[in-house]
This record gives sequence, C-alpha cells and structure tokens, in this order.
Amino acid sequence: MQTVTRFAPSPNGHLHLGHAYSAIFAHDIAKSASGRFLLRIEDIDRERSRPELSDEFRRDLEWLGLEWDEVPAQSTRFASYNRFLTEVLREGGRIYPCRCTRTEIAAAAKKSGPDGPIYPGTCRNADIDPLEENVTWRINVERSRQLQPEIVDLSWTDEVEGEQIADPDLFGDVVLMRKDGSPSYHLAVTLDDAVDGVTLITRGKDLFPASHIHRFLQAVGGLPVPRWHHHELLLDETGKKLAKSRNSPSLADRRLSGENGLMLAEQLRLQQLPVGT
Ligand code: GLU
Repeated sequence: MQTVTRFAPSPNGHLHLGHAYSAIFAHDIAKSASGRFLLRIEDIDRERSRPELSDEFRRDLEWLGLEWDEVPAQSTRFASYNRFLTEVLREGGRIYPCRCTRTEIAAAAKKSGPDGPIYPGTCRNADIDPLEENVTWRINVERSRQLQPEIVDLSWTDEVEGEQIADPDLFGDVVLMRKDGSPSYHLAVTLDDAVDGVTLITRGKDLFPASHIHRFLQAVGGLPVPRWHHHELLLDETGKKLAKSRNSPSLADRRLSGENGLMLAEQLRLQQLPVGT
C-alpha cells in the first residue's frame, strides 16, 4: 500500500519552526517510501481563518524545498461533514443534539479531559427535536458501544509508542457539529484523513490523546484505520514547546528576510534550532 502522509495547518496564524519541522517530517516519510505528501488547509473556523495565510503557507513550504499534492481545503467540504453526520453517524442514535452552553457545561462537569471539561451528558436522553436550530451535535459514546459491541477495546498503533487501546472516555461525548453548522476538529480531521487516503497520520505528540477519540470515530463511522506517528516537539532553549504565540519570527518573516529555507530545513531534519530562534 502506498504511504500517504499529510500536513494540515490551520490558517489562523503564521507558520513557525515547529510547523516546518512537522511538515518536513511528514514530507520526508512519504518521499522516502515513494508515497504521497498532501497539504490540507484546515480552515473550518470561519471566524479565525484568514484566507491570505493559505498562500503564505504554500510559499513557506516551497521555500523549505517541499513538494506536495494539495487536497481541497476543509471550508469546501462542509456538505460532506453534514452527510457523514446525518447519513452515517445519526443511524441508531449514535449522535444527539445538545443545547448546553459552555458555562453550563463548565458548571456541571465533574472531570476534565484534553479539550477541557468532559461533557456530563445533560442532553444525552433529552427529548430535543433534531430539526431544532442552534443545537450542537455530540457523539453518544455509550450508545455507540451498545450498538457495536465490537468497538470496545479498539487498537491503534503509534510508530513510537506501539499498540494502544482506544480510550474514548478521555474525551467523552465530544462535539461533532457546532451550533453554526461547522464541524469540530475531531469530525473534520477524522473524515478527511479517510477521504484523502492518508495511511500514516504524523503530527506532534501534543495531539497524541486526540487519536484515541479519532480511532473511536473511525470505528463508529466505518472508516479505514491508518497508522500514527506522533513526533517529538521542537523545544526552545528553556525547554518549552515552540508555539505560535511565542514571539519567534514566523517562517514568512524568515523567508522574506532572505534566510536560506533549504538550509533551515536541513537543520530541522537534525532537530537543530537555528541560531537566534
Ligand atoms: N489543523 C491542526 C492544527 O493546525 C492539525 C491537526 C492534525 O494534524 O491532526 O493544529
């Protein structure tokens, strides 16, 4: 089977060294296996996405010497998220509408997970008309397990950490579709990785927990199961994760100041941060 990897940036901020490392990582794995490296713009967040950044990202990747095939941006796929939700996941009540606000959830939640408070299930058995507007759609983890007993103890493989058993309860009944009709990260990324034929999902270790719920959603939705490789995160000199919010220059700043992108890519392959990061 051909190896297909992807880099999936969100155009709500400039790319930084950590993104460059992640893109090079995915690119090199695909190229060394004569596979395909995909670029997918993850612009589901209509308020925070800035369309001009997508072009900037393409110039940044080109400057680093990467070659890719681009697949459609998430903003063009809203109909497919909707279809997947209504035609596949809604079957048998595996999702449910919810009216709770963030404040209500924060007040009622007993546990917290990687995305914040775990939904306490307030609307799970409420009688809400599915056609009602302004509802959020959530996965019903418990009901999905009852309907498909085989999805208990699902395994997935991280190339570094080895075999894992999916633990969807880490997240609970996560949001799949928001009140404004936009999909959540978990829904969009899970469906798109399947549709785009991604065989190896590479991303930073900070997203390791998300793969537990993605593996569960794949099983509920009857999607193919890829492998994962959660890579190390580049750390700054104080040992903290390099983040968008940090004041280090963006890739675009570096490119426009005349820095050599190919040399930078070589340093990152050796996990070396350039001087003056
Ligand atoms: N769009 C996500 C981000 O920019 C990437 C998610 C992923 O690789 O699964 O953080």
